[in-house]
Amino acid sequence: MSTLDAERLLGAGDAALSDVRLMLEGGRIAAHLPAPSGAGSLVLPAFANAHDHARVTRASQGGGVGAALEAWLPYLALIPSVDPWLASAVAFGRSARGGAGAVMAHYTRVQGLVDYAEEARAVAQAAREVGLRMAFAVSMRDANPLVYDREDAMLARLSPTAADVARRRFMRAPMPAAEQVALAETVAAEIEGDLVTVQFGPAGPQWCSEALLSLIAERSAATGRRVHMHLLETQAQRLWADARHPEGLVVWLDRLGLLSERLSLAHGVWLRPDEMELLAERGATVVTNASSNLGLASGVAKVGDMVARGLRVAIGLDGMALDEDEDALREMRLDWLLHRGWGHRPALSQAGLLEMATAHGRFAITGDAGAGAAPGAPADLLTLDWAALSAELIEDVPPMDLLMAKGTAAHIRGLRVAGREVVADGRVTGVDLPALEAELLAALRAGRGQTEDLRAVMPELRAAFADHFAAEPPCC
Ligand SMILES: [Zn+2]
Repeated sequence: MSTLDAERLLGAGDAALSDVRLMLEGGRIAAHLPAPSGAGSLVLPAFANAHDHARVTRASQGGGVGAALEAWLPYLALIPSVDPWLASAVAFGRSARGGAGAVMAHYTRVQGLVDYAEEARAVAQAAREVGLRMAFAVSMRDANPLVYDREDAMLARLSPTAADVARRRFMRAPMPAAEQVALAETVAAEIEGDLVTVQFGPAGPQWCSEALLSLIAERSAATGRRVHMHLLETQAQRLWADARHPEGLVVWLDRLGLLSERLSLAHGVWLRPDEMELLAERGATVVTNASSNLGLASGVAKVGDMVARGLRVAIGLDGMALDEDEDALREMRLDWLLHRGWGHRPALSQAGLLEMATAHGRFAITGDAGAGAAPGAPADLLTLDWAALSAELIEDVPPMDLLMAKGTAAHIRGLRVAGREVVADGRVTGVDLPALEAELLAALRAGRGQTEDLRAVMPELRAAFADHFAAEPPCC
C-alpha cells in the first residue's frame, strides 16, 4: 500500500476534486481519503500514447526536415542500426518523461542486428525496465515498397546510381503473408505478459496485399489479438485509395473482416464522413497525431467530425511531438486548440479530450478502457506541479482550463504505472536516461558509415519523391 496526495485531482468525476489522498494497492487505486490541504500537486490519469514507433531518433536528427511524408520516409533508412534495447530504452524513457504511461510501439524500424524474436525480447525488456505499458505491434507489409503503385515511373525519374540504391535499400522481396502472421504470433508467445502485449501491425492498406490483410483479419477474429495500422495519412494515400478501391477503401477493409473494436487506425486525416460512420459502427478507434500531421505536411484531421459521429478517437505522438520533446501535455493542448471548434460552436469538450488522451488510448493499446482516477482504476497516474501551474492565478481557475492554457511536460513531477514510480522528481527511475541518450547518440554518429550509399543520393531521392507525388496519377 502506498499513497499519493493530490491538491487537485482530475479524472474522478466531472469536476476536479480537492485535497484527496489516493490509496494505491495491487497496481490499482484502492480508495480516496481526505488529504491535508496544500500538497502542491495536480494528479490526473497518465497519458496513453496510442500511436508511436519506439523511434531511434527525434525527427530532425536524421535530416529531411520540411519534407512531406512520402519524401520523408526514405530518411528513416539513413539511420544506422543500433542496439535495439538501447534505442527502445531511450524511446520509452523519453515517453515516460513526457507523460505517457502506455505506448503503442508500431515497430516499423527493425534494427536487424540479431534475429527478430531476440530483437522483440530486447524491446519488451526495455519497456519493462522503464516501467511503461507497451503494445508491440509487429510491422507487416508486402506491397508497394517504394511508392503507391507505378514503381516504374518512380524509378524512371532516378539516375542509374540512385535507382540502384533505391532497389537495394527499399525493394527487397517481402516475407510471405503466412510467415509474417506466424512470426507475430511466435513473438507474442515469447514476450506477452506483465505490461507487454503484442498486436498485428500492418503498415497500411497501400503497403499490404489483400491476402496479408485478410489473414490478419482472420487470425485477429480467431484469437482476439488487436490490430494497429496507418490509414489515410496523406492526400497521396487518399488519391491512391480512390483509384485502387472505387468501391471505397474502408468498405473494402470491412469486406476483408478487418473492422472491429480490436482495430486502431493511425492518422485518418483524409477520412470521409461516410467512412467515419462505418468505422464508428464497427467500434474501431482512430488515433489522431496532430504534431506529426503538421510536421509532415499531411493535414489537419477532422476530429470534431469523428467525435460527432460517435467514433472513438485516441491521441498519438508518432515520435514527432511539436518540439521534438515527447510532451504529451502540449500535444493535448494542440489537439484542443485544433479541434474544439471555431467561434461559439464547440466540437470537443475538455472531458472528451481527457478521455481521448487516457481511456481511448489505453483501450487501443491494451484492449482495456479502464482508466481514470476513481477507486478501482489502474494506478497509472501523472503528478504535475500544481503550485507552479497555479502560481499566477487571481481567480480560482479549473485545473483542466489551466492545462489547456499552459501545461507542458516541464510541470511533470511524477508518473506511476500500475502503482510503480516510473518518473520521480521529473526523472525516469528505471534507467539512467541521460547516460543512455549520450550512448545512443554516440552509436548513431559512429554508425553513419553503414548508410553512406543512401546518403550520397538522398537529395536526388527527396526531389524525385516530391516530384513523383506532385505529378503522377495515383495508381494503376
Ligand atoms: Zn506512424
